[in-house]
Amino acid sequence: MPRKIVVFGHPALRKKASPVERKDFGSEELLKIIRDMSEALSATPDGIGIAAPQIGVPLQIFIASEEALAIDRGGDVNQNEKKHWKHHIFINPEILKKSAKKSKMTEGCLSVPGKCGVVARAEKIRVRAFDEHGKKFERGASNLFARLIQHELDHLDGILYVDKAESIIDADAKK
Ligand code: ZN
Repeated sequence: MPRKIVVFGHPALRKKASPVERKDFGSEELLKIIRDMSEALSATPDGIGIAAPQIGVPLQIFIASEEALAIDRGGDVNQNEKKHWKHHIFINPEILKKSAKKSKMTEGCLSVPGKCGVVARAEKIRVRAFDEHGKKFERGASNLFARLIQHELDHLDGILYVDKAESIIDADAKK
């Protein structure tokens, strides 16, 4: 059974997450947390990212699904292929650069089920993080993938998109 994703109102979503300690990289405990996050994400019908606080773990870890990159490429995203998407792991992430140019898009959150809202976010970012074995990496991101990373980074600060959205509506109303 995948770990339960905590929802709006749960205190875990409002805490600032702690960095993963150097000694814990590569540990069975850390790998287990990441597996649990991956499983929880794969079990959702439409999630493309998840942060550790969303399964009640107060650590600076998030996962961004390759699905977001596929959507950015304009590919036809088949829901049945969901479980096969590569999950990009970001640990102790920090934003190095952010474009001044912002774009507005409707986004949702697994921890705020049934709702969505328009949020302005930087179009391009550059981020530095560690993988699960402690290897440092940097990568640039744009469009949806950049938005996803900014959304997940907010989770690590105890911020939810509803704090920034222009308005929140029922997700069903969008269709
Ligand atoms: Zn979220």
